[in-house]
Amino acid sequence: MRMLEVLLKGHDKFYGVTDVVRLFYDGVTEDKSAGRVICESAPDAKLICELDLSGRSVTSWGAKRYIPQGRILEPGREIKRSLYLAMRELAGHDVPWGCLTGIRPTLVASEENSPEALVRDYYVREDKARIACETAREELRLLDRIPEESVNIYVGIPFCPSRCSYCSFIAEDTAHHMDRLTAYEKALEGEIRLLAPRINREIATLYVGGGTPTVLPDAEFARLLDCIYNNMSIKDNTEVTVEAGRPDTITAYKLEAMKEHGISRICINPQTMRTDTLAKLNRRHTAEDVVSIYRLAASMGFDLINMDLIAGLPFEDASSHVDSVKALIDLQPANITVHTLYKKRRATLDKSVVMDRDDTRGSVDDAVREGYDLLYEAGYHPYYMYRQKDTGHGLENTGFAKGDTGCLYNVAMMTDFRDVLSFGAGGSSKRCFIQAEGPDSKRRVERCATIKDAIGYIARYEEMAERKAGFFEL
Ligand code: SF4
Repeated sequence: MRMLEVLLKGHDKFYGVTDVVRLFYDGVTEDKSAGRVICESAPDAKLICELDLSGRSVTSWGAKRYIPQGRILEPGREIKRSLYLAMRELAGHDVPWGCLTGIRPTLVASEENSPEALVRDYYVREDKARIACETAREELRLLDRIPEESVNIYVGIPFCPSRCSYCSFIAEDTAHHMDRLTAYEKALEGEIRLLAPRINREIATLYVGGGTPTVLPDAEFARLLDCIYNNMSIKDNTEVTVEAGRPDTITAYKLEAMKEHGISRICINPQTMRTDTLAKLNRRHTAEDVVSIYRLAASMGFDLINMDLIAGLPFEDASSHVDSVKALIDLQPANITVHTLYKKRRATLDKSVVMDRDDTRGSVDDAVREGYDLLYEAGYHPYYMYRQKDTGHGLENTGFAKGDTGCLYNVAMMTDFRDVLSFGAGGSSKRCFIQAEGPDSKRRVERCATIKDAIGYIARYEEMAERKAGFFEL
């Protein structure tokens, strides 16, 4: 059988090896008993990836040897370097983030604090190295505004008015599950009443996300906000965000209910400003709906509005995404977040439409670059960044903000330096511990998962509340 085989020698960093091969090819598997990683979609080749006695990585491909120059990194990072050099020759192209795998490029960027080091030692492309370092600095600046001893709260409503064809989230479609939404909202209120009054720490941020929280009917939506505010100690200056997501779920009544509680940060997410694409993706709103809801919210005093876009959507080319960026810049929201589509296991969308790497890599990359340039020109700067596993093009998601409007919750969530307590199905709570102070300060993160599906949560929300109370020692 023809396939790529990478033999591991002198180390057992299967994860890192798999991650690097996956940057170039799909269908990568670990064969631990044979000490190798294999990939049937790659060209026929046998590589040996080893750490030599000095700790430097060396990858051999027949008579060729790939040896990174300069300083030696810690083993987990070091083995990726030589393997990346071999893989890029095998594939015949680079990838934008070089051998920097993992979901948080800003973590390494903040450690290195130098675009040159990312380019030289991790083979990151220069533009990505620059934006990673800039974002890392901004993340740290925002992180400083979230007290270490505080907690950040997430409240999740995993329901949407229809299921976007690219979605792999657990969100349920209310067209078929309205009864379940009502039962879920009652369970969620139950969990909030059980657990929230026991929170004995300052609440730094609150994020009501989904799904689409505004899919709740007007009265239930207002009732949920009342429940949150009656049971949690939320101060006037606490950052509170509501993901209003789909414009087709936002009403003047819900906006008014949020205003009454002093909430001014919301998300209105078009994903694209092309109505024909929206219809093909099973999103039941138009680009005009986005504009009119944005204007309504702005006229009511919502001055911190985030809008999400996705680059690399099927049925679109680079210019479609760039046009969407321009359309949002015209609206001047405080935040614009640019995502890149990634392979989602549960998505209904035909993956061949989305993820033909050879067809899409270059154009999505170009679209993202041009979009970023426009955002910089319009006065936005990046403030948080993450990548998802299996991005077809190895690209990232970046939140841009105007002035000092970056969302603290996003930073708390993405940097594993602050605690998050989540309510509702599917949310993950985490506690971050400092293991050692000083320049070599190390952190340890512990997580507490909640049952993922709405039906299970409705039946077991009390147990979930107790589990988290134990986890947070409340
Ligand atoms: S709005 Fe988001 S969570 Fe809801 S179906 Fe679409 S992608 Fe999934």
